[in-house]
Amino acid sequence: MGKRYLQPLRILVQWGFLFFSLYLGIQFYRFVLHFRSGGATSFVPRPDGIEAFLPISALLSLKEWLASGSINPVHPAALVIFLTVVAVSFLLKRSFCSWICPVGTLSEALWKSGFNLFRRNFRLPRRMDVALRGIKFALLCFFLYSILFAMAPEQVTSFVYSDYNKTADVRLLDFFLHLSGISLTVIAGLALLSLPVRNPFCRFLCPYGALLGLISMFSPVKVTREGKTCVSCGVCTQVCPSYIPVMAKERVHSEECIGCLRCISHCRAEGALEMKLTGRKIVVNGFLFAVLVVLIFWGGTLVGKATGHWHAEIAKGEYARLIGR
Ligand code: SF4
Ligand code: SF4
Repeated sequence: MGKRYLQPLRILVQWGFLFFSLYLGIQFYRFVLHFRSGGATSFVPRPDGIEAFLPISALLSLKEWLASGSINPVHPAALVIFLTVVAVSFLLKRSFCSWICPVGTLSEALWKSGFNLFRRNFRLPRRMDVALRGIKFALLCFFLYSILFAMAPEQVTSFVYSDYNKTADVRLLDFFLHLSGISLTVIAGLALLSLPVRNPFCRFLCPYGALLGLISMFSPVKVTREGKTCVSCGVCTQVCPSYIPVMAKERVHSEECIGCLRCISHCRAEGALEMKLTGRKIVVNGFLFAVLVVLIFWGGTLVGKATGHWHAEIAKGEYARLIGR
């Protein structure tokens, strides 16, 4: 089988997860509305998967889990999803960013539209690019330092069980429902910048992506180029959304590689470019790669459910007190 099918398959998976995220968002909105309307609208169970959007709460839960030995029942799904995403990144590069994350999906749709508009995408001057890429690592250091080192264990526990943390998901919903002028300007600015430049939010600002990128450097699979069969056409370098000079590499170690397989699916020289395991002998076929990304991600959530670490144990009465009128 050729490799052309890989990108339509990836886009199908991406948009499937995006629509699923939208569904979760709508269900969560209806859940909140029930309490805010004083019970005038029908009750909809809270979709626990919404906790995928609480990575900071997950980091706090991680510290609390390591200290206490048990996963807190406030946002258990947040920690389960976080650990699953870390596992996916460790095993399969930053594939979460290019196969599952809805922000990555929208970002990609924007730079592709920009490509159609301008007939090309642009790259920032090298020094500026390096400096801007540092922002996401600076943000990551800030969060890791503040949560893992600066906060005492008892402070973390008290935060985890606080009303503020219990309603972190509601606060996030409110943020998007009532965007301030500044937030709207920032989001619009980023969306506009995403037309000429590929994935600026993921590349420059996302601390989650920075963490996954660092973890992905230990991944046993990497894009690997076979010098003997490569015809040096440069297509792999041109199509890479992370601006990695793939043609100049034998093995792509970069933390910016998002495992999208675009370089592999566009390469026309048989056997020149493949995802290979350490040792460079065993090929991880693109279809298998796709199946593994989805199965590990889905499997992680199923393990969370099966072990009772999924459903938030906040009673209806408690929600009525926290978010009701
Ligand atoms: S697209 Fe394939 S043949 Fe062309 S430079 Fe890259 S690896 Fe070599
Ligand atoms: S190196 Fe290949 S798999 Fe990695 S980001 Fe670039 S195009 Fe995608």
